[in-house]
Amino acid sequence: MITPPASSPLVLCLSGHDPVGGAGLQADIEAVAAQGAHAVGVITALTVQDTHNVRRVSAVAPALLAEQLACVLDDCDIAAIKLGLLGDIAQVVAICETVDRCRVPLVIDPVLRAGGGANLATTATAQALLEVLIPRATVITPNAAEARRLAPGLDTLDACAGALLARGCAHVLITGGDEATATADNVWYSHAAAPVRYVWPRLPGPFHGAGCTLASALAARLALGEAIDAALLTAQTYVHDCLDHAQRVGRGRLIPRRLQPPAIPGESPNR
Ligand code: PLP
Repeated sequence: MITPPASSPLVLCLSGHDPVGGAGLQADIEAVAAQGAHAVGVITALTVQDTHNVRRVSAVAPALLAEQLACVLDDCDIAAIKLGLLGDIAQVVAICETVDRCRVPLVIDPVLRAGGGANLATTATAQALLEVLIPRATVITPNAAEARRLAPGLDTLDACAGALLARGCAHVLITGGDEATATADNVWYSHAAAPVRYVWPRLPGPFHGAGCTLASALAARLALGEAIDAALLTAQTYVHDCLDHAQRVGRGRLIPRRLQPPAIPGESPNR
């Protein structure tokens, strides 16, 4: 009898498509594969963008999204879900049904604004994230600006994290790559323990796609069965390494090198 090949855990990635391959589903597929898991990709939106900024987002029709999700879930056993860019508010129903049906770790990168400055979420989609999706999340990974937008009117990021935890998600990792600080500091907040600060040397960017890379690597680590503390550290270490070897694919921001180290030492623009 032939033994079937051992299969990698599946990470359902609900993400936008970025044609330059820095962010969105391509980032997810590469980051998930680099952890030894397999990405099952369902696109929420097509985008018009380059390495500078996002020009346009065109959401996938909610019925098509729902049909793809139902088809995939009938066939595949998903071990974790990563949600990135939400195409529009009408997609929330199908996404919630998927999350509730799978009952696996859910990582949400609440994509509200591109690094280049474009707004990527209407007030309605940001509100839906906050009220419907974030309460279902295992971990959310907002950057500092996203945390402030999701929890407005609070003085500190600690207070923002408290407000987001109060929505019902189990863990919040606020990333500090977008802050004007000497180091890139990420802070993990949870209900049970004191905040944990990770201090990373600030690399010469700017970068495009770091947030997607982090959230999908984290989802893959959870899919592989890693505990949350180990998964958070492994995923951040991986992202730091990808950024340290970032590559130039356009004339704007650098994109993380997620799959292979540079062939020639010193080839990276950061070295
Ligand atoms: N495009 C898509 C599809 C995204 O998901 C994101 C962020 O998650 C972006 C663009 C913006 O990425 P960044 O802010 O890293 O440039």
